[in-house]
Amino acid sequence: MIFKNNLAFAQRLDQQDPLHHLRDEFLFPQQNGAPFIYLCGNSLGLQPKSAREYMSRQMDNWENLAVEGWFEGATPWMFYHKELKALMANIVGASAAEVCPMNTLTVNLHLLMVSFYRPTAKRFKIIMEAGAFPSDQYAIESQVRFHGYDPKDAIIEVAPRAGEATLRTEDILDTIATNGAETALVLFGGINYFTGQWYDMPAITKAGHHAGAVVGFDLAHAAGNVPLQLHNWDIDFACWCSYKYQNGGPGGISGIFVHEKHFADTSLDRFAGWWGYQEEQRFKMEKGFTPEMGADGWQVSCTQVIPMSLYHASLKIFEKAGFIAPLRQKSLQLTAYLEYLIQEVNTQLGFEQYKIITPKDLADRGAQLSIVAQHHAKEIFNALVAKNVLGDWREPNVIRLSPVPLYNSFQDVFHAAEYLMAISKDLISPKQ
Ligand SMILES: *Cc1c(COP(=O)(O)O)cnc(C)c1O
Repeated sequence: MIFKNNLAFAQRLDQQDPLHHLRDEFLFPQQNGAPFIYLCGNSLGLQPKSAREYMSRQMDNWENLAVEGWFEGATPWMFYHKELKALMANIVGASAAEVCPMNTLTVNLHLLMVSFYRPTAKRFKIIMEAGAFPSDQYAIESQVRFHGYDPKDAIIEVAPRAGEATLRTEDILDTIATNGAETALVLFGGINYFTGQWYDMPAITKAGHHAGAVVGFDLAHAAGNVPLQLHNWDIDFACWCSYKYQNGGPGGISGIFVHEKHFADTSLDRFAGWWGYQEEQRFKMEKGFTPEMGADGWQVSCTQVIPMSLYHASLKIFEKAGFIAPLRQKSLQLTAYLEYLIQEVNTQLGFEQYKIITPKDLADRGAQLSIVAQHHAKEIFNALVAKNVLGDWREPNVIRLSPVPLYNSFQDVFHAAEYLMAISKDLISPKQ
């Protein structure tokens, strides 16, 4: 599509957008009496208007049924997670049995590594991306130490080449091939939080399996953002948080994926708890752990009804949208429009003040653009916030903007770039 840098064009795209009305399902934060142009859904998704009601229903159940709420009411808590599983499966490309809402993300990463990082004297290494989200680094380092290895020996990080910001797939695959015989686990982010790079998940999985390793992904920035086929790509396990692109609320519940090929493997270690016990037999309270078949068998503690209710509200909006395929179609255009408008700002300034480090190729990114501001980065970010444009800031000079197809419009993107232009002209003298 040929983009144009004017409001009428952005308005026309909004009129043609079949998902435009979905933004009415969300609450936008305000500043000085006006809503923010919210481009921070990569960090915390907006609150669905329906979330309060979904939560309220469970508060009512608690009020009216108390302990009987586990088995009584419209959505007995004992089985409530099943309603979410069916919806979550559509978000990540899995069967309902392969996913489960539980705990929070880093906790799940640990629990899944207990099952899927099983180092031996010969195979004990983990291959991951350099610059992974810190929580993942800490989790992986501590797991390695827990098994008696030194992270310096056991962790191989794939880094960008000198002068480059993102990873080359060939370098990832080479690293896996070269170290394959010693690698127990390949554990990557789906999309890197800093650069917005979407890794080639099927290729990484194939290479990892070819080397004889287990392959897992942290999908914090990918789930709800890009189309995933976790089952068909033959990924062993994955986890994600619900509060970024999936609007599950601060500290929201996490989701896990375990490929069905592992369901019957009784050799897998687990940190067990009563909620992972065979559902039908759970309340017999017997000695000796027998897991429920499927991802549910990785549950530990009793189900978190209130956080699930918030996630549920948002998943129902995804269902209304037709899940990821239509959202992705809009997202590709929306992000490309933002990219185009940022280049327009550079053109008007006469130099590349804003360098986008997120890959240009649409297959290698989701909704996020990470923008290095060459001059006055922090001042520009603050000035955008003052103009009601909320992105997020990463030291030392990166502004991340994420137009989210569920609730952002082409006009949002247009106005954000318009303010960026005005602010930049104020702070930087154009070079012709
Ligand atoms: C956001 C994010 C987290 C956060 O983990 P929590 O346990 O939910 O606090 C972890 N890993 C990645 C890759 C993230 O993007």
